[in-house]
Amino acid sequence: MRDLIVGWPKAEVHLHLEGAVEIETLRELAACRGLPPPPADLYDYPDFGGFLKAFQMVCDYLAGPAEYETVTRKLFGRLQQQGVVYAEIYVAAGVLLWQRKPLEAIFDGIEAGYRRARADGGPEARWILDATRQFGAEAAMEMTRRAVPLRGRGVIGIGIGGDEERGAPELFREVYAYARAQGLRLTAHAGETAGPESIWGALRALGAERIGHGLAAAGDARLIEHLADKQVPVDICLSSNLRTGAVRAIEEHPLRGFLDAGLLVSLSTDDPAMFGTDLAGEYLLAHERLGLSIGELRRLAANSFRASFQGRRLE
Ligand SMILES: [Zn+2]
Repeated sequence: MRDLIVGWPKAEVHLHLEGAVEIETLRELAACRGLPPPPADLYDYPDFGGFLKAFQMVCDYLAGPAEYETVTRKLFGRLQQQGVVYAEIYVAAGVLLWQRKPLEAIFDGIEAGYRRARADGGPEARWILDATRQFGAEAAMEMTRRAVPLRGRGVIGIGIGGDEERGAPELFREVYAYARAQGLRLTAHAGETAGPESIWGALRALGAERIGHGLAAAGDARLIEHLADKQVPVDICLSSNLRTGAVRAIEEHPLRGFLDAGLLVSLSTDDPAMFGTDLAGEYLLAHERLGLSIGELRRLAANSFRASFQGRRLE
């Protein structure tokens, strides 16, 4: 079954570069710079807040362009093994700028890693710069201004992630309006740890073209109808939702209901190393634990291309 899934061409549209760094790689990077190794339990989290802390710690180990080149190259090797032919990958630019790291120089490192990976037959990719909600709108605007000159280098859009409770979508209205005017595509994590109002806000105040997670839509029939009508892509990341406690048990995950309601859903890993998963593993989980048929899994694989910003254009 795993071989069958790996054999299907797939896109991955919800994947954080930093969340794809294996602990083993962090150990190697730390040893190179004479730093203490990461704690062995770095990727065990009690809750969503614990996950965010671990994510920031991973960013601490990624000091500059050389580290980013290494982790980019390693990620693409794994994507290739999973049958991923196209990816839209988040870079935690909000965290980088918060840590006063040189975003443009780091992007040189990412590009160098990507070029090497492409030369080795790795998948095509675009980049999404992700702002961090709890750092506020001004920081997100600064990140977006810095994203604009990177458009010619594969940066396709912006997103917001982090703590939904500490950053309602409405706060970022002007940031998204500016990004849209600059030709950047728009996505937002929403309805992962907050309620349906967060998804409505992402759609109405921000004009988000894609929704990351969107779990809370399950409790709002009107929202489900809207998402189905407009075919707004919703990225589903099963292991992530389990590991952060966004859903209590896999059986409670709304994927099956979303699919039956006609939503444009696709599967992604979110932070594969931090959640101990890979893309084929996510498809297997949907099959074995949520009862999706092989035909439905193939539909999700086809949806992954429709969900991508290359597959859809702004109206
Ligand atoms: Zn995410």
